[in-house]
Amino acid sequence: MSDVELRGVEKTFTDGKGGTTRVLHGVDIVAPSGQFVVLLGPSGCGKSTSLRIIAGLEQATAGEVLIDGRRVNDVPAAKRHIAMVFQNYALYPHLSVLENIVFGLRVRKVPKAEREKRATEAAEKVGLVPYLDRRPSQLSGGQRQRAALARALVSDAKVVLMDEPLSNLDAKLRQQMRIELRSLQKELGLTVLYVTHDQVEAMTMADHVVTMRDGHVAQAASPEELYVNPVDADVAAFIGSPP
Ligand code: ADP
Ligand code: MG
Repeated sequence: MSDVELRGVEKTFTDGKGGTTRVLHGVDIVAPSGQFVVLLGPSGCGKSTSLRIIAGLEQATAGEVLIDGRRVNDVPAAKRHIAMVFQNYALYPHLSVLENIVFGLRVRKVPKAEREKRATEAAEKVGLVPYLDRRPSQLSGGQRQRAALARALVSDAKVVLMDEPLSNLDAKLRQQMRIELRSLQKELGLTVLYVTHDQVEAMTMADHVVTMRDGHVAQAASPEELYVNPVDADVAAFIGSPP
């Protein structure tokens, strides 16, 4: 189990022509160990940038990212135990489920026997062992989600970052996947940071909701607290709280 904290994170992008855009203005987030934390807010408010900074795909311009109390830049990537799950799970269509799961290990030159052992262990945790030889196109939506989680688990992730993973699915499948994802997250004791612009998703899935707006956190609270005590009219309108 691992926790994640952002303290005063700022991000300014430069366009190469001397122009700059400041997109994060001091973001504070606490994701306690084993919790399902949702970053919620309208398009363009800085959710993906925040997640990418936690993943180490972008560097913060100022502020700190802490993993278990240690500054992320002081922890070697292999010891951060963080994995990112991309939209639609980004499984390689031409590779088998097994090959998809071990892909990152292959890149890191982990020997074949160990790769397969770890892949099988990860597949066992998510109930995918019978499907290891299939292609992603031969899996159901739920199985694809589990393959993406197995790919995170195989690298020993304790923190899983997800950026709108369900946004391209139809409503019925989305609902089913939310339930399955939540139960796997609890069972595996993962800390999940989950980005969405969908209030229903946030309110039904989260232990803790971080509502963002214009590059900062407007309110961070449990779904119940957010609904009953929105910090202002904007949050209330976004959440759909009664007036
Ligand atoms: P969200 O995920 O909430 O929709 P993003 O974090 O993707 O928001 O984007 C926040 C803001 O940062 C947007 O205005 C976006 O255009 C801008 N942005 C994101 N990535 C870059 C980049 N690489 N260069 C310049 N601007 C960017
Ligand atoms: Mg985004």
